[in-house]
Amino acid sequence: MSAGLHTLDGRVAIVGAGVAGLMTALRLAPRPVVVVSKAAAGAEASTLWAQGGLAAALGPDDSPELHAADTLAAGDGLCAPRIVERFTRAAPQAIDELARLGVAFDRVGAGGFALGLEAAHRRRRIVHAGGDGTGRELMRALVAAARRTPSIRLLEGFEARRLVVEDEAVRGLLVVGPAGSLVLAADKIVIAAGGIGGLYEDSTNPRGSLGQGLALAGRAGAELADLEFVQFHPTAFDGPARPMPLVSEAVRGEGAVLVDETGERFMADIPGAELAPRDVVARAIWRRRAAGHRVFLDASRALGERFAMRFPVIAAFCREAGIDPARQPIPVRPAAHYHMGGIAVDEEGRSSLRGLWACGEAAATGLHGANRLASNSLIEAVVFAGLVAESVAGASFARGAPPRPVKSPPAADPGAVRPILSAAAGVMREGEGLARAVASLAPLALGAGPAADPAAVALMIAVAAQRREESRGAHCRTDFPDKASEARRATLRLDSALALAGDCAPTTPERRASA
Ligand SMILES: Cc1cc2nc3c(=O)[nH]c(=O)nc-3n(C[C@H](O)[C@H](O)[C@H](O)COP(=O)(O)OP(=O)(O)OC[C@H]3O[C@@H](n4cnc5c(N)ncnc54)[C@H](O)[C@@H]3O)c2cc1C
Repeated sequence: MSAGLHTLDGRVAIVGAGVAGLMTALRLAPRPVVVVSKAAAGAEASTLWAQGGLAAALGPDDSPELHAADTLAAGDGLCAPRIVERFTRAAPQAIDELARLGVAFDRVGAGGFALGLEAAHRRRRIVHAGGDGTGRELMRALVAAARRTPSIRLLEGFEARRLVVEDEAVRGLLVVGPAGSLVLAADKIVIAAGGIGGLYEDSTNPRGSLGQGLALAGRAGAELADLEFVQFHPTAFDGPARPMPLVSEAVRGEGAVLVDETGERFMADIPGAELAPRDVVARAIWRRRAAGHRVFLDASRALGERFAMRFPVIAAFCREAGIDPARQPIPVRPAAHYHMGGIAVDEEGRSSLRGLWACGEAAATGLHGANRLASNSLIEAVVFAGLVAESVAGASFARGAPPRPVKSPPAADPGAVRPILSAAAGVMREGEGLARAVASLAPLALGAGPAADPAAVALMIAVAAQRREESRGAHCRTDFPDKASEARRATLRLDSALALAGDCAPTTPERRASA
């Protein structure tokens, strides 16, 4: 490995070059940072694929309080109210900041933002760009801004594989690049490595979204939170492509309806109908499919010929699959989409481990609770990047010894993990299935093979899902269909998940009652 890279020693190290990593780097300027990204900046990041947009109370009929109320309602009792309040107040300025950085948002009339509507939002508050090309435009602007910022060094094609921890504080980051591995000395590290959808067979996330940030933090002993809460997007395009293309919520926001193959509109009697919270819509589709039906999103009446103009990306992949969304219903099904859980952080993005922060989808800030409100994640990353940057800039640690060299684990291969996690921790879960998953994942997580890190993350998700004996938000247990009387967030460390895996007998309501 090039010794030249040691000139980067001592910089703040940021893992990930999606919206969270790049915004944190930009907010830290002119402080020198190194952004480590396993893919080229702007590639293989969920950010790039975002369609709907960013939620912020900008309309004349809207307010941060209303945005907060909708966020809390979707979160089903588990949001951290202070975080929600802080976030919804900061969101409008964050949009202005992005516009100043050069993001070309869609505008109307005299230049105000065009505001879309999405499920479970009571107001039009979704700021978007290029119709449904929001993520592409966001990444274009952020990568350009990062490249022209002298304090930011982008280390592309380098994968972070381990944190080096000494005396309960981070000291370095083991990265593997084209010419081998290297430990970058860093006592301030920000994990912004995105979500976990790639651990599922059916997901809208890039295949490389394997929760590596969670593996890094978990193996270093940091606390994780809310891991059982995986959001399944109700309307992924039901075709052979993996990852599954997304048919944005905004299509339902424009009036498209869900029907089965007989044309029956099966959501009509459910409160909120097609615009009910995501978990409600995902379960309704799941049940319809389990009853032997196929499900479609019909935009022919609501949008018709306007479809391609408002949703050019979706129109393009529909046409590639031989479907004209202006006239024909689009086949859809739920797919793993977003992780509410992640590295447990405080209001400044600090983890339980000294010197480690997390931002974006890899972090569990408490904003989303049991279920994320649509379009709250990109903007969460932007708002928290500012808070993380302030906290990082304000922290000073006594200088430690240079980090010791560590052996690199092999590149992650989630092949063995995907079928296990998908079967046990999907839209509907039950105790016995989770117990079987825990028993299968624990030996993989304890091993040293390519499945070890993906299995460690999947194990923590399965253990968290097993421990939550209730149905709340995106976590639905067929054996515990009711909500517990008290809403409580749960945290977990990898070593306790491994210890709990030893006792993975199935838990049923009867066993619980007699316990
Ligand atoms: C199809 C789709 C549509 C969406 N639409 C919306 C929307 O409209 N609005 C909204 O708010 N949210 C949306 N989301 C969710 C949102 O896009 C993500 O939550 C958000 O982009 C996450 O940003 P991030 O920076 O945390 O992670 P990402 O954008 O996923 O970036 C992660 C980065 O980490 C890098 N990385 C990962 N592991 C390593 C490693 N070990 N070493 C080095 N680098 C690593 C990756 O290469 C990448 O650069 C959507 C998600 C998807 C998949």
